[in-house]
Amino acid sequence: MTHRVAIVGAGPSGFYAADGLLRANPDLHIDLIDRLPTPHGLVRAGVAPDHQGTKAVTRQFDRLLAQPDVRFAGNIEIGRDLSWDEVRTGYDAVIVATGMVIDRKLGIPGEDQPQVWGSWRFVAWLNGHPDFRQGPDLSQVRRVAVIGNGNVALDVARLLAKSAEEMAKSDIVPTAAAAIAAAPLTDIHVIGRRGAEHASFTSNELAEMGRLARAVSVADAAALEGHPPASDPTPERLRKAKNLEILKGFAHNKPGSKPVTVHFRFNAAPVAFRSGELELTTGKLPVDLVITCIGYTGEDFPKAEGVFAVGWAKRGPSGTIPTNRADSHAVAKDVAVWLKARDPKSGPDPLPLCIDADGWHRIDKAETAAGAAQGRPRVKLTEWQTLLEVAQGT
Ligand SMILES: Cc1cc2nc3c(=O)[nH]c(=O)nc-3n(C[C@H](O)[C@H](O)[C@H](O)COP(=O)(O)OP(=O)(O)OC[C@H]3O[C@@H](n4cnc5c(N)ncnc54)[C@H](O)[C@@H]3O)c2cc1C
Repeated sequence: MTHRVAIVGAGPSGFYAADGLLRANPDLHIDLIDRLPTPHGLVRAGVAPDHQGTKAVTRQFDRLLAQPDVRFAGNIEIGRDLSWDEVRTGYDAVIVATGMVIDRKLGIPGEDQPQVWGSWRFVAWLNGHPDFRQGPDLSQVRRVAVIGNGNVALDVARLLAKSAEEMAKSDIVPTAAAAIAAAPLTDIHVIGRRGAEHASFTSNELAEMGRLARAVSVADAAALEGHPPASDPTPERLRKAKNLEILKGFAHNKPGSKPVTVHFRFNAAPVAFRSGELELTTGKLPVDLVITCIGYTGEDFPKAEGVFAVGWAKRGPSGTIPTNRADSHAVAKDVAVWLKARDPKSGPDPLPLCIDADGWHRIDKAETAAGAAQGRPRVKLTEWQTLLEVAQGT
């Protein structure tokens, strides 16, 4: 008899947990369960579709699915198709890797208007998540406010600002690409509540904003003064100094010198949104769409003996894909020690009918074949019904 472990959530932290478990004890059976018929979590649904290099990690994840004792179980939502109690009873240990993707609220009047979108809903639409097939109506959108000073804000601004040619090799869903290309966009405001020195952009992503074909990035020079170089540079301080240098370069650019202008605005907190106008602590800004990129919260899961958490479900919505590796490996070691002290449970297979790795490979094959015909990495299937039919080979 071998121990059975359920990993709930087949995003990066779930895959790294499976990898860690197999390193700690190759003699285990692992079920990697996801509510979607596709694995990879936010690497598929969140990471920007024009950053294919970042998405390449999925090849490593798919190799794990080829291991004989790892089973992908897609289209099973814990809490809906199986209760958490059933999972706990059916497995010797449970690892919760469900992530955290409920958009955080700004808490300002007007936030519930249809012109205000959370970044998750927005990127999930661009990335073809089957629960988010409807994007914002961009047909009249000329001015967009992107609220937040992290990499997700840069992703959103860049994806709106890039030309159709620049997106040609991405796996953005075609309807979203067409809606962006047809929008009469002229201005994108990236708004930070605090000063430029506090922005958490990574320098490479910020520098990319200076190399866009149809958009020019600008910043107010006055907002970038008064930050002398630190005497004891840590990597974090070096990143901030590099960002300030990049932004100072943007301050020399001329607004309007390309069809779209991306304005970096700092020390401006949102106060209210009224149809067509975002009120900031620094004044009023006419905008047609607001996209908030201010972080996420998640759903609760039972904390009980034999239940371990990894990734964003454990740490909250921070850290990149590689951050999850060390974290999941450490938790996997704890799980292996915990299991060692217990006899394996016996009982029937706890899983109902699911989409297995073969089903996912059928989806993958259909998507990459459709992509190849257009010179793209893939064209995603975005409809639940189609995903399930293709996975089942019907
Ligand atoms: C917009 C965006 C862009 C990003 N870009 C980058 C980037 O460029 N580079 C980088 O390194 N990192 C990036 N990140 C961060 C990276 O995506 C995360 O670090 C990572 O995905 C977290 O992994 P996770 O496994 O904890 O969660 P997730 O990736 O969210 O995976 C959770 C999985 O659990 C499943 N699930 C949820 N609830 C249930 C349930 N009840 N039952 C069954 N399954 C369930 C979900 O379907 C999902 O597949 C980005 C994040 C976002 C939001």
